[in-house]
Amino acid sequence: MSNKLHIVSLGCTKNLVDTEVMMGKLQNFELTDNNEEADVIIVNTCGFIDAAKEESINTVLSLHNSRKDDSLLVMAGCLSERYQEDLQTQIPEVDIFTGVGDYDKIDELLIEKKSRFSDKVFLIDGAERVVTGSTYHAYIKLSEGCNQTCSFCAIPSFKGKLHSRDLDSIAREVESLVKKGYYDFSFVSQDSSSYLRDQNIKDGLSLLIQRIELIEGVKSARILYLYPSTTSMALLKNIAKSEIFHNYFDMPIQHINDDMLRIMKRGFGKEKTIDLLNFMRSLPNSFVRTGLIVGHPQETQEMFDEMCEFVKNFGFDRISVFAYSDEETTPAYDMKDKISDEVKAQRAQILGDIAAESTKKSLAAEVGKECEVVIDGESDEHELLLSARKLIWAPEIDGEIYVNDQSDDAQELEFGKIYKAKITELVGDILTATVDNATK
Ligand code: SF4
Repeated sequence: MSNKLHIVSLGCTKNLVDTEVMMGKLQNFELTDNNEEADVIIVNTCGFIDAAKEESINTVLSLHNSRKDDSLLVMAGCLSERYQEDLQTQIPEVDIFTGVGDYDKIDELLIEKKSRFSDKVFLIDGAERVVTGSTYHAYIKLSEGCNQTCSFCAIPSFKGKLHSRDLDSIAREVESLVKKGYYDFSFVSQDSSSYLRDQNIKDGLSLLIQRIELIEGVKSARILYLYPSTTSMALLKNIAKSEIFHNYFDMPIQHINDDMLRIMKRGFGKEKTIDLLNFMRSLPNSFVRTGLIVGHPQETQEMFDEMCEFVKNFGFDRISVFAYSDEETTPAYDMKDKISDEVKAQRAQILGDIAAESTKKSLAAEVGKECEVVIDGESDEHELLLSARKLIWAPEIDGEIYVNDQSDDAQELEFGKIYKAKITELVGDILTATVDNATK
């Protein structure tokens, strides 16, 4: 009888890729949703902000409480890396701790039953990865670490400097996934627009676009996490020209007030940031997503109001709003004029409402339009509704569409295929659509 593995992936899509690499290394295990019967339990943790840390620790402890006596409990990932010494004494329940550099050694660690932290940055070659949650889409990692010095961010302190993955290695991974039927790819990293800058290549993403376009079978691609000061107009034009890469622009700008951007050490001021955003918005069928932080030390009411006003008027398609979280090892941690939790929560609520309104406007503008969608499966809402995604959207990030009707001459719908669709209605926050025949 094979051993059983229960694995939990917390945090971002970059963490998900690392989880999938561990699953690839442990293919001799049978996966189980039931942690009580698992021989090995792995929690790939997130250590980004307080809420994520709490979720990671609670998940580990709750899984420990109900696990079998002879099972192994592994804590992996960012939180484990960032607080390795403290956690090893504070959570003795965990059998193996491992950081962000040893995902591809997880099989050896289990055999040795040892904790390990490597000082090298880990970059997969992808050959043994198991993609979860989709039969046609995969996240692909471009690099690890980050050379930026954003005041609020602890990631460079535990992930290290930018270390870009070799273009050949990325292409090999995409080719091997295409052979397995995958055709849609999202390229991710901490700062994607710096890809290959550690090798003195300025517009590495343009090289990536050229290379991926040559791979037969790739039908759809998008890049996540563009950083303003490393995103060139040339890159945006190359994305716009591409037949494969969508005009999908995910650029967390964090704030718009000039002084605040300087305090945050973002490298780009208001004017240049707006120039980039306006250019993205002007491209045909563009989708513009951003992320914003409220309540950073020294954020005045005027600065916050300026950000709200900008967001109301710009017309983002999606916005993630975060309340500032005070993290040790960051420059902001030692700054004066911290904002109280109460004010941070109020500001997050106000900007969150504006963000929700902006998303709603973006969705409402889709009604009546034709677009390509992928049918993912039955919806959780009703047995007669299918769950689909607009092809340009990033899976599990940008939302879903309910398909509730089919044109008369359409063939039977297949999950994982691309169809032409007409958006018919916005019901609450969800679009509904009618689909036609498969396109690609
Ligand atoms: S770009 Fe800034 S926020 Fe993003 S990982 Fe690097 S330092 Fe952190």
